[in-house]
Amino acid sequence: MTPATDTLARAGSAGCTDAPIIQERGQREVFCGLTSIVWLHRKMQDAFFLVVGSRTCAHLLQSAAGVMIFAEPRFATAIMEERDLAGLADANEELDRVVARLLERRPDIRALFLVGSCPSEVIKLDLKRAAGRLDRAFAPRVRVFNYSGSGIETTFTEGEDAALAALVPQMPDEAPGAAPSLLVAGTLPDVVEDQFRRLFADMGIARVGFLPAPRLADLPSVGPSTRVLLAQPFLRDTARALEERGASLLSAPLPVGAEGTTRWLQTAATAFLVPRELFQNVTAAGAARAERALLRHRTALAGRRVFLFPDSQMEVPIARFLHRELGMELVEVGTPYLHRTHLAAELALLPEGTRIVEGQDVDRQLDRCRQAAPDLVVCGLGLANPLEAEGMTTKWSIELMFTPIQGYEQAGDLAELFTRPLARRQRLAV
Ligand code: SF4
Repeated sequence: MTPATDTLARAGSAGCTDAPIIQERGQREVFCGLTSIVWLHRKMQDAFFLVVGSRTCAHLLQSAAGVMIFAEPRFATAIMEERDLAGLADANEELDRVVARLLERRPDIRALFLVGSCPSEVIKLDLKRAAGRLDRAFAPRVRVFNYSGSGIETTFTEGEDAALAALVPQMPDEAPGAAPSLLVAGTLPDVVEDQFRRLFADMGIARVGFLPAPRLADLPSVGPSTRVLLAQPFLRDTARALEERGASLLSAPLPVGAEGTTRWLQTAATAFLVPRELFQNVTAAGAARAERALLRHRTALAGRRVFLFPDSQMEVPIARFLHRELGMELVEVGTPYLHRTHLAAELALLPEGTRIVEGQDVDRQLDRCRQAAPDLVVCGLGLANPLEAEGMTTKWSIELMFTPIQGYEQAGDLAELFTRPLARRQRLAV
């Protein structure tokens, strides 16, 4: 195990804007970036994700996605055998054969992602080059991209960041002198995307694009008139790639909970000069519904203590929601990575003095958790079972990625993710 090092970075003002972040480097317990294929493939309907990996990678995907019931799934693993790993076979030739067979059998595929894994990295298979070669062979019918989902390099939500960043060069240039447009970056469930589209349209924001788009041909344009609103907090590389294309980022809290959603929408409204009264007319009913839905959960959660382990990178927005809208006390807020600029609006809303930890040294964190004996622990699957066995109540953070949680209409469902385990524990105790 890697020895742990703790360093305190920066110090003190509004909420946790300049709060010290404890940084831990040690053993970590998180899924790799391949996991994000589970929600990406559902969203991108003409894409195919070909993991170049081992049987372990195939099993991870299969179990994360549940039993595949589609006749034609949109992901697969090109399994590297021991021969490949030992460098005895030409993995490139084999990969070209697999891709040619796949594209011949599946004429519906327009975007093919070659996804790197630990094994492909270990043998230094150059997937960037392979993607370039295959792209030249199959364009324009199929465009071939690559990114790494390897557990050596990525945690599970970073897989989405890497996939979206790979798509940015494919986005068309905006027309010269184009009117300002809004780009929402980050995968949202269709139902949530539709709700946001309606709200933006009602506010009079006409040009709105979403990344990823359902089809490659529908990728929105990007350029200096594009204003980007992040719908997920983990899009470091995607945001950078969009900025390099001239787009500017809007700083907002994430659209989770009634407050987060209103502030997120307000940021767009301000940037697009939406009159205050119109904004209020458009958002009032949804905000009121969300607040009503949160009321009964607040009764169950207020005053309860929650400990968040680093896993999904959703921890900071979720902690803000649990504290401000549901009255929970934050014992510790762990996150695999913390992008201060992207999370600036979130950090400002956390209560002063919140213990924020970036990175992980799992044993030390478990010790702190046991000592604090919180009412609820939000953590990855690997930690949940042992902690439950010790009598703690847990919530799997991966559910935050598989459940529609953003927006007004989902605020109650999001709160319920946290009341349910406590209610279950109570029933077991009776
Ligand atoms: S990419 Fe690495 S961590 Fe992920 S399933 Fe494959 S071997 Fe495991």
